[in-house]
Formats: sequence, structure tokens, C-alpha cells
Amino acid sequence: MTTTPPTQETEPEDELDSALVTARRQLERAATHVDVDPGVVTRLKHPTRVEQVSVPLEREDGSVEVFTGYRAQHDDVRGPYKGGLRFHPEVTAEECTGLSMWMTWKCAVMDLPFGGGKGGIAVDPKSLTDDETERLTRRFAEELRDVVGPTKDVPAPDMGTDAQTMAWFMDAYSMQQGETIPGVVTGKPPVVGGSYGREEAPGRSTAIAAREAVDYYDRDLSETTVAVQGFGSVGANAARLLEDWGATIVAVSDVNGALYDPDGLDTHAVPTHEEEPEAVLEHGAPETISNEDVLELDVDVLIPAAVGNVITADNADAIAADIVVEGANGPTTFAADTILDERGVHVIPDILANAGGVTVSYFEWLQDINRRQWSLERVNEELEEHMLEAWADVRDEVEAKDLTWRDAAYVVALSRIAEAKATRGLWP
Ligand code: GLU
Repeated sequence: MTTTPPTQETEPEDELDSALVTARRQLERAATHVDVDPGVVTRLKHPTRVEQVSVPLEREDGSVEVFTGYRAQHDDVRGPYKGGLRFHPEVTAEECTGLSMWMTWKCAVMDLPFGGGKGGIAVDPKSLTDDETERLTRRFAEELRDVVGPTKDVPAPDMGTDAQTMAWFMDAYSMQQGETIPGVVTGKPPVVGGSYGREEAPGRSTAIAAREAVDYYDRDLSETTVAVQGFGSVGANAARLLEDWGATIVAVSDVNGALYDPDGLDTHAVPTHEEEPEAVLEHGAPETISNEDVLELDVDVLIPAAVGNVITADNADAIAADIVVEGANGPTTFAADTILDERGVHVIPDILANAGGVTVSYFEWLQDINRRQWSLERVNEELEEHMLEAWADVRDEVEAKDLTWRDAAYVVALSRIAEAKATRGLWP
């Protein structure tokens, strides 16, 4: 069934905003900096559709449970809807809609021929056995079969899902369609049409964004201290790359707390969430601190790479970093963004910083369509090139209009989307 997409245009100010409220506010603010048809902005506040499905699962004990799944498709003016599927207890239609809007901007900032989508199932993946996760994923793929496809909507991994989830999704879809269609999802294992480098890509682009920001503000990476919240794929890959490039990583954390060493941690020795879940604290450091304290450390660069809404009006005044690079999607609330800007803290937004994930998803999609595999070297080279181009496009707007990095990224995205909408026109 297709749910009625959320329609309310402006919601009351509320500290822990939903992704949708934040996404709409950010759009409204960005629109004030671009010469864009107001009709286009109005259209972009609403998703094309939000599909809601029931996903029944027979548990190991023989009982049957029904979970709710969603796929929000925000806009496809520039190409198929694109974005992750998350398995998380807090997944809702509204959250997926907001996150799908961010995907539209992210793909446009990177100049990829995709629109924005996001979906998921409201479920705690930790409560499922591997077998249950597989069956739930396969049934979800079947329920979404009519609305996804390599030229319609291409899901990918997100919170609580991974390459194996995508392999099951692709297999279920392909079995029902009667042919192998690897391009229906990205983020698959390379052996079934996945791309080398896709797993590390969001962390790699986050590290590239941090490196470019440090350079832009006339500093040297070898004299830069970094704190990273979250040691999943994004946080760990960003931390390890920045350490390899000469930065000093003074803190990394997971849900249980953070390791802190002012002289720098060996981040390769700390297991990622995928390597050993929630084990960061077991891998010794002179000091451990709380997960919240990581955000307030006096470092040059802070990378929130765990969950959304961690930098809020309550702690924005206490953020001591000079540069925040958003590895997670939506870690900074709208209110906190304003406070950080007033305090002169530069925020490199998620839609630019972690866009390496969807960029390598695009490379994967191209490889699937062309039935050929690129080398890891080629993937990383092309990712670097795409990131530097996007960085330069956003930097030009920062400088030309004296904007924050977030507003500038939105201006780049919105200009491209508005031009495509104007050229295609409103039908009928
Ligand atoms: N879930 C990732 C994101 O938020 C990747 C999306 C994709 O590769 O399609 O950007």
C-alpha cells in the first residue's frame, strides 16, 4: 500500500526534530540563496510516494510476527530513486521521507544521475537470528518488487543492513523476475556484482572531506587532532585513513563509551563494529570517556559518525572543535547548526562528507549494467576525483555567497534539481 505522504508544510520548532522537519527547514533556508521557481521548492517538500508494507516473519519458535516496512521515494527528476534500507526500531514513514530528501540533495551535490529514496523495516536487527534476517529481507524484497528496479529505485545498505542483506535482496528480486538483475541494489559483495571499495567509501569520503577542510583552513593534517564518534564502517574507515594520512586520532567511541589518548590512538588495532561488535572499550587506552564527552573534546576536527541528532541546542555551545565533518546522516539539529555557525565552527555537511557511499554505489550500478568489474584502484581514483569536483563546486558557493558549507551544498544541489525540473516541466 502507498501511505499518504506527510503533507504539513511547516512544523512547530522542536529540539529533536525529525529528519523530515530538519530536511524541510534546510530546504527553505537554501531556497533563499538560489534564484529558484517557488513552485519547484513546494514540490520538493513532498515525496513522490511512500510505500508502506507489512512484512510477516515466522520466528524460530514457530510464532508469526508482522513488521512494518517502508520505501520513501522523494524525487526522481535526475534519475532513479537511490538510497539505503535501514533495519532499526525507530524507522517510520516520516523518518524515511526526510532521509530520502537528503539522498536527493546528496546525489545532486555529487552530480550523480539519481534521485532520492530511503526505506527500511521497524525492527531491532539484534533481536533476529541470521536466518530470520534473511527471510525478513527476502519477504521485504518481494513486497517492494513493484516499486524498485535498476531503472526505478535502487536500494543500498544503511543502518542495520550490510552487503549480505543486499545479496539476499538481489537474489529474492532476481528469482521472482526470472533473471539475475544485480543492478537492483548496490552495496552487494563483489562476488555477486558488488563494487570493490563500496564498503569503505562513506568513511573514505568523510576522510577526504576532513582533509580538504583542514587544508582549506590553512592547517596541516600532521598537526591535526581528530575525535570520532561511532566506530562502524563510516567512523572506523574515516579514522584509519586520517591516521594513515598523518592526523592524530585522539578519541574513538561506540555505544559503550570512548577510548581517549591525547598522544593518538592506533585505530587499526581497535576493532570496528563489523569486526567485533561494541568492543571498542576492550582495546585499552590511557583513558576512557563517555560517548557524549567525545563530542566536546578540544580537538581540531570532530567527526560524528554514529547516529542522527547528537549535536543539539543543548550541547552546541560546548562543541570545542573548529571543524565538524558529518560522517552520519543528520547528526546536527537545525537549531544546533545556527549556534555552531554563530560560534564560527565550520560544519561540512553529511550530503557532501559521507557521499562516497552513494558515489561508489553509482560506480557499482554502472559496473552491473555493463557487466564488468573495476579494480579497487580505479574505484578509489574516481571517488577521489568526484569528491574533489563536488568539494570545489560547494567551496565556490561558500566563497561567492559567503554561505555555510551546508547552505552552499544545498545551493549546488537545488540549482541542479531546479534546472532539471524547469527543463522537463510540470506534467500535465
Ligand atoms: N545509505 C547510504 C547513504 O545514506 C548509501 C546510499 C546508497 O548507496 O544508495 O548515503
